[in-house]
Amino acid sequence: MNTVRKSAPQLEQLVPYDPKYLPAKIMNSANENPQDVEEQIKREAMSAVRNVKLNRYPDPLANELRDLIAEANGLDRNQVLLGNGGDELLFNLALAYGGPGRKFLNMPPTFSVYQNNAQLTGTEVVNVPRLVDYSIDEQAVLDRVSQGDIDFVIVTSPNNPTGQLAPEDFVLKLLDATDALVMVDEAYFEFSRTTLRPYLMQHQNLVLLRTFSKAFSLAGVRLGYLLGNECVIREFLKVRQPYSVDAVSQAIGKVVFQNRAKFEPGIIQIISERQRMLEELAAIPGVDPYPSDSNYILFKVAQAGQVWQQLFDQGILIRDFSKARYLEGSLRVSVGTPQENDQFLAALRQIVTA
Ligand SMILES: *Cc1c(COP(=O)(O)O)cnc(C)c1O
Repeated sequence: MNTVRKSAPQLEQLVPYDPKYLPAKIMNSANENPQDVEEQIKREAMSAVRNVKLNRYPDPLANELRDLIAEANGLDRNQVLLGNGGDELLFNLALAYGGPGRKFLNMPPTFSVYQNNAQLTGTEVVNVPRLVDYSIDEQAVLDRVSQGDIDFVIVTSPNNPTGQLAPEDFVLKLLDATDALVMVDEAYFEFSRTTLRPYLMQHQNLVLLRTFSKAFSLAGVRLGYLLGNECVIREFLKVRQPYSVDAVSQAIGKVVFQNRAKFEPGIIQIISERQRMLEELAAIPGVDPYPSDSNYILFKVAQAGQVWQQLFDQGILIRDFSKARYLEGSLRVSVGTPQENDQFLAALRQIVTA
């Protein structure tokens, strides 16, 4: 037969995730750490990889890495779960807490992967859009969860792509107002230096998502983790792929996590560059940056799509949200090295004032 029947009906409206990653001289579009893992740590990681028995299945739960993360967070092994990037754990969230007849409360604009996972799993998405300044419509969220039918909520803090933290007092009110599982996506918490981890004990319905992809320079390796209560982690265990975290990633992750203090100067530099970029962006006529607690800045500019193209033509790749719902006219730039940031700022200034 040279035809094929239709795929599952929930796929019909879905578009595959496209990071819009095009080769460029300056790649400031995906919120990665601009510095690769330093040579000394890389060498240590490579010798750990050399000792991995490639013919054997990995430890399914990456227990050694799990123990390191648990210890650093004052938790027990059973309160930690590794995944093939944070993205896998987001998919597992939709599998474990979503599904047909179940509801996910989303606060757009935010990370588009959440919405896709909901559609894929037949979960109904209840959108409570952010206000014009992209802060959370707190009262609307609290009112909506009080109806009692929401199964899970994701609070992205800092939010991607808009950049700001979710107020802690709001998240605590939310946790009190509902028994829905509340995931706080802390993919960028190393840049905001804020975490809700201290509240895990008091709130069984709180789970945190973290990743090695941003502050720890391991986007290429695929490692993310959850911190949560044992009863929640147990549900995630039921849906996960048994060997999703491969042995090579586990070996590299252990070395990087043990050396995490060495990433601190780079993180501090990103935070200070963020401040400098915010000030310099705000000083360009017609450019309106939003405040950021993260390692990227969203800004509005007239003819954003054309500005994006002109930057790209000069070898500078940033993220184009100019046609995205709720983000019309916006671009997002990741904080790069000081040199990259200088080149980006100079190019943008020249384009906008031309
Ligand atoms: C980058 C990111 C993640 C996780 O990314 P992985 O590379 O899959 O670990 C999760 N949430 C948000 C909001 C992100 O930006």
